[in-house]
Formats: sequence, C-alpha cells, structure tokens
Amino acid sequence: MDTRAPRLPYPYAWWVDEALGSELPREHRATCSDCIMLKAEGHHPDPEHGQPFNPATKCCTYYPYLPNYSIGLLLTSGAGELEVGTAAVRHNIRQRIGCTPLGIDGPPGLQLSYERSRDDIFGVDARFMCPYLITGANPHCGIHPYRDHVCATYFCKHDRSMLDLDFWLSVRAMFRTAKKALATRCVLELCPDSEVLDLLFLSDGMPSKVRGRQLSAWIDSDGHLSADTSRRLWGRWYGKEEEFFALCGDRVKALGWKEVRALAGPGLAVLEHRARKALARLQHPDIPPRLKWVGSGPQFVIDRDRFTQGTTIVTPLHRHDFVAIPTRAFDVLEGFDGSESTDAVIDRLRTSRGVELDRSLIRQMVDLGVLEEVEDGEPLEPPFTPDRLTPQARLRFSRVAHLASQIGFDEGGRATVTLQLGFKEIEFDEPDLLEFGRQLAIHKNGFLAEEATHWALGGATLSWEKVSELLEALCSEGILKVV
Ligand code: SF4
Ligand code: SF4
Repeated sequence: MDTRAPRLPYPYAWWVDEALGSELPREHRATCSDCIMLKAEGHHPDPEHGQPFNPATKCCTYYPYLPNYSIGLLLTSGAGELEVGTAAVRHNIRQRIGCTPLGIDGPPGLQLSYERSRDDIFGVDARFMCPYLITGANPHCGIHPYRDHVCATYFCKHDRSMLDLDFWLSVRAMFRTAKKALATRCVLELCPDSEVLDLLFLSDGMPSKVRGRQLSAWIDSDGHLSADTSRRLWGRWYGKEEEFFALCGDRVKALGWKEVRALAGPGLAVLEHRARKALARLQHPDIPPRLKWVGSGPQFVIDRDRFTQGTTIVTPLHRHDFVAIPTRAFDVLEGFDGSESTDAVIDRLRTSRGVELDRSLIRQMVDLGVLEEVEDGEPLEPPFTPDRLTPQARLRFSRVAHLASQIGFDEGGRATVTLQLGFKEIEFDEPDLLEFGRQLAIHKNGFLAEEATHWALGGATLSWEKVSELLEALCSEGILKVV
C-alpha cells in the first residue's frame, strides 16, 4: 500500500533477496505519496468497478493481522517517527483488543461487514480505516517498516497487469506461510502451557483467528477480550504482553531465510519456487513469438466504446486497474489466431486492415491475458461454434481456478445457485435448474454434454434442447469450453 523504503516490512525485508534471488519489481503506477486513486486519471470510468478513493484513508481501509514478532520488532525499534503507530499498537495491547500471544488481529464484527461488502468499502469507507494509519492532509502508515505482509504486497495499479498481480500474490502466499510458522514457533518456545496451546490452536494445528471468531466464546464483535479470557490465553505472560512480543521479535530477528524455510516446511519451498517463477515471467520483456486471442473471458471485462467513443477499456480481475486502448486497434486483435508468428500477424493486419499495432500495446494485451502465448507444437483450439456442441462433446470450465459456487436464497426467499467465474456471475433460480447449476459446479473439471440432461432432482431429466441451449450460452460467453 505504500512504496516508500524499505520495500518490504521487516523481517521479510531481510530475507527477500535470498528467497527470490533477485530484486523486487517497482510499481510505478501506484504513486502512493501522491496517490493516483485520488486523481481523476486513476479512477475507472465505470463507477461499478471503482469509486474515487477517500482522501482520508486511501487504500488503508483494512485491519491488518500483526504477528507477535512484528509487534516485538516495532515496540523495540525506538524509531521516533513510529511513535504514533507504536502508541496505537500499545493501545490494542492494553485494551485487550484482538491481542493474543499470536499477535493482534482485527475485530470479528468489522471483518464480517468487510467481507460482505468489500467492493463498496475498500478505499472508501472511513469506518474501516486501519487503526495504524496516521490521518491528516497526507495519511500515511504509522508502522510502515513493520506493516503487514498483505499491505506490503498490495498495489492499486500494476505496471504489468496480471503478471505483476500474480507475482505479488505469490509473494504474499509465501510470507503468509512463513508468518503462520514463525508466530506459532514463538508461542511454542515462549508460552508452551497446555491450556494456552489448546485455546490458541485449532484441532488441525492452525492458529485460531480472532477475526474468524474462532475464539468466539470470549470475544465481542469489537474484538475486546475479557480479562478472564486474556488471563487464560496469555498464561504466565498475562500483564507482560509487551515483554513477550519483544522476545518474539528477538527470536525471529536471529533467523536467516534457510532457517525460516526449515521451520515452515516444504509448503514454503513450493511457494518460494512459485514466486521465483512469477518473477522470472515478469522480468521477461519479450513478446511471445506466437499469440492467440483469448476472446471475452471471465478474467477481464471489455467495455467497447461504452465510456468514450473510439476507446475500449479492458479491466483485469484486479478491478482498480484498467487499460484504455483505441477500439480500432482492439478490434483487430482477433487476427491473432496462433497460426502465424506475431510479426507476420502484425504485417498482415497492417496490410489487410490498415491498422499499425504498436508492440507496447501487444505487450499490454499479453500482460492482461487478452492475448496468450501459443507454445511450439501446441494444437490450436478452434473457436466455439454451435455445431461443436453435440451430446458427445466434452466440456469444462475455461478457468477452473477462478470458479466459486454458492447455494443461497434471493430476496424473495427462493433458493438460488450462483456460480462466479472471475467477473462473470451466473445465477440459477428456476426450481428445475437448481440441480443443473449445482452439478455444473461439481463437474467443473469436465463432463459429457449429454450427462447434463440428468442434472435434475428426483430422477427427472431435462430435454436436450433445453440443456444444449444453456450449454451453448455458457460456451459463447467463454465460461465453458469444448475440449
Ligand atoms: S491507493 Fe494505495 S497503493 Fe494506490 S497509490 Fe494510493 S496509497 Fe498507493
Ligand atoms: S498497516 Fe499501514 S499500510 Fe497497512 S493498512 Fe494499516 S496504515 Fe495502511
């Protein structure tokens, strides 16, 4: 959320070079000290995708979960400029707000509202302002060198769209795993009392979260723990919480990345590998030699001439970012069908359509996922046409990893099945299609088209006409594909 030095908070800043083997990329478009989201050019033209941010909060409408060792490092830093942020942390410790030997977590009530309406709250609603934000004409982080790993890996805009996003999410996953292992280790070494461990950890060994209401028996929605609960959670450290946190900081300060890796186990090594791979992709400036047009898909939204005539806006999953390109250029991108080299397609489009495609625009479209690399020898996927949808056709979701499904009720109390694939949402509310929607989610990895005629309750069947009509619509939208 803030790109002032150090690039990552401690202790991660000490380890990142070794973990990634290379420097972190810069995000020049997230101009934190002169926040882009407070300027007209930073706002998405569609209010549904993003409102102007609140100058009082910028993107700090988030309650970080500070682990025990980060609190210790902050409390013992002695840095004068962190006085206000340190006082806010001390306030939470003294008032027993979300404060356990694992760290300081956000209040459950706040978290619940946040999860329900995240898109309306983020960057806008001052009620969700981080308690460590120093307010004023230029709001800034009061605990910057020790802030949360989520804050340090969030950027409202990226230089290289989805490639950057993928990289930062991998770094976030890597440090989240390290954070759990380190915070747990500190508790085990310093506070191994049986009752404390029983209360602080779930039956699968994962740390209990205050915000997840896993400590809900004793916590109010503001995150306050009663004196009795605190006594039980803190055991021998009750009343000496700051001393405990400082010892956690000392322990973690003494570790090198190799030791962190050994502590966190093979899962961290896998995430480290992913982050390195994502970074290598990001550092590769070349345009792939062969490209294909992905078409409309759930991973981005295309608004063709909707906001300004002659301009197409492409919005990636990361909805505060967007790219505006001339519609004239956007309309010829379908010419990339993977059958010829990228240079040959550029030449062909110049001659046949009279459009000169700038290589930087092609690079942007690759970064967004609008154009995709075709590997050597990779068979070309034919575009969807209704004649490919036979009863024997095998179908699957185009982006399985982005699929989420939910069974719920609409405002009238009718049952619904909702499938969300990136930006696209499909709701089934007709009673005879609820089972169809449910089975669709279950069969996300693949099914024969004719199988779907049996996706009805009580042994009933759906007609092939009805099923093929639904499947055809989903294929045309790029949600399903024939494989
Ligand atoms: S919204 Fe946040 S990340 Fe984006 S420029 Fe402003 S402070 Fe930086
Ligand atoms: S910890 Fe700092 S960067 Fe993170 S939300 Fe709070 S004020 Fe913003």
